[in-house]
Amino acid sequence: MPTFSDLARAAYCPRQLYYARRDDDRGPGERTRERRELAFRYPALADAPPERLAALPVDLDPPAYRARLRALAGRDDWPAIADPDGRAVRLDGKDCRGVAHKVSEAPPVPTFVSPGRPPDRGVWAPQRVRAVATALALAWEREQPVERCRVEYPASAVVRSVRLTGGNRRRYRRTLRTVRRMERETPPRTDDHAKCGSCPYREPCRGKTRSLRSRLF
Ligand code: SF4
Repeated sequence: MPTFSDLARAAYCPRQLYYARRDDDRGPGERTRERRELAFRYPALADAPPERLAALPVDLDPPAYRARLRALAGRDDWPAIADPDGRAVRLDGKDCRGVAHKVSEAPPVPTFVSPGRPPDRGVWAPQRVRAVATALALAWEREQPVERCRVEYPASAVVRSVRLTGGNRRRYRRTLRTVRRMERETPPRTDDHAKCGSCPYREPCRGKTRSLRSRLF
């Protein structure tokens, strides 16, 4: 059964998931863990001195980061963000499994904590797929509807939401079908070459093309 992060990877590029599975390279690295950890320390970070914040893996200067944290504290759902009912909750859904980094109750809402930076608006497309997968897995376990998943970007002190709209569900189901097809066939490379620049598998995946080019020029 695929994990939530498998689905996010496949939504970015199915071939990337193929390489990650082949190399058994699917766990979070140290830097990812450090940045995720920030999501569990917001109240303490809001009061931290600038020199302490400057030593942490945050993406803003200390005054800007603290201003963002103050804005978060003004949200209606701040208690669920700062002090969730559950942390690192394992979920086994009907079609996929994984960890919800936080879960709040009444109503149940899971959270995915991203180690990265947010887009200008909303949530990156692969993370939307992961958020839907997480919300549906929680709904399956609780046997009750879950309407959204929070996505936190703690290094930027930004929290967004992904709702289970028809469009988001369709994208999730398409990705699930792609992952299932991988049992039978090697998945295609993405057509969007811009994605390959930051891909850890560009050597095995695109290396042949580059070496051919280097022989020609
Ligand atoms: S190099 Fe590009 S096509 Fe290949 S796995 Fe990475 S993102 Fe996908």
